Amino acid sequence: MALHLDHEVMPLPLRDPFRIARSDHGAGHVATTLIVELRDDRFPGVVGVGEGFPDRFYGESVDTMAAVLPALLAAIGEPAPTPDGLASAGAAMDQAIAHNGAAKCALDIALHDLVGKVLDQPITTLLGLTGSIPPTDFTLGLDEPAIVAERARRAASFPALKIKVGGPADIPTLEAVRAVYDGPIRVDANTGWQPDDAVRLLPALERLGVELIEQPFPAHRLDQLAWLQERSSLPVVADESAVTIRDLRGLVGVVAGINVKLAKCGGIGPARAMLEEARELGFRTFVGCMEETSVGIAASAAVASLAEWVDLDGNLLLADDPFEGLELGRDCRWRLSDRPGLGVARRAVRSATLV
Ligand SMILES: [Mg+2]
Repeated sequence: MALHLDHEVMPLPLRDPFRIARSDHGAGHVATTLIVELRDDRFPGVVGVGEGFPDRFYGESVDTMAAVLPALLAAIGEPAPTPDGLASAGAAMDQAIAHNGAAKCALDIALHDLVGKVLDQPITTLLGLTGSIPPTDFTLGLDEPAIVAERARRAASFPALKIKVGGPADIPTLEAVRAVYDGPIRVDANTGWQPDDAVRLLPALERLGVELIEQPFPAHRLDQLAWLQERSSLPVVADESAVTIRDLRGLVGVVAGINVKLAKCGGIGPARAMLEEARELGFRTFVGCMEETSVGIAASAAVASLAEWVDLDGNLLLADDPFEGLELGRDCRWRLSDRPGLGVARRAVRSATLV
């Protein structure tokens, strides 16, 4: 077999505790991601790096990823090192296994990185996309209002903040943030609200300058999402309800916006297709992320020119990003390296154990 894949389970200590409405009790201090390295006998010495962040909400863990990666690798065979070859590999993964977006994402990103290096092209050139993308917002997890406000003050240079809600003190939190921050606030309830909560909070959200409401209700409650969107002047954005491109048509007329994440939908190729179809269907588009390293963020930034809103701050939430090569401009726009592939590499100081 020409392709060889190694993976590494990588714990990622977080800079600040990060909790969301559906977090496990005690969670939020360390995230766990999975990094892969892909080698191809046809191109000795070239290594493609990929990342997939498993989220139990979507049925994935590092163990399920490790279990399905060999099957995904077998499914893609020996893809041609071309954009068409990348698209065929993505389709082959989807045919082989239905879900497992983070596992597909890791392999898809590594393959894009490898092909970019083989062709000596940065990832955006390979994709035919511009590297000029909207600025990223910065996300603050659930906590006491005064703590969230202090973090908002520290993040005041970002042009927008994303505030996790669905806790016991949503309005005091948003009021405390508004007292120290002038820019747009995006709220994300991560399925944590009931319709009664949303209707009660809506006037305050509008008064406080909230820009959008992300995933207020459970993923399958499209009826509730549509009900709120009808009553809200603010766009409602689907995240947990919009896992892959196959979810888009069912959301037409339900929500105004879609949050696309590589780790949900299966990587760079699927995210690009999902963003393009979402735009064609008339949705407003958001590119989001998990608590990922610069590998996942660079891969997401590569397609972020297709989005209106960008929430690519996962690597900024880490105490120590194990990768380097991606730079955040003073305007809070990610600048992809002009090196071939993703343009990110491991920091030299960190020791790694591949299994
Ligand atoms: Mg979300």
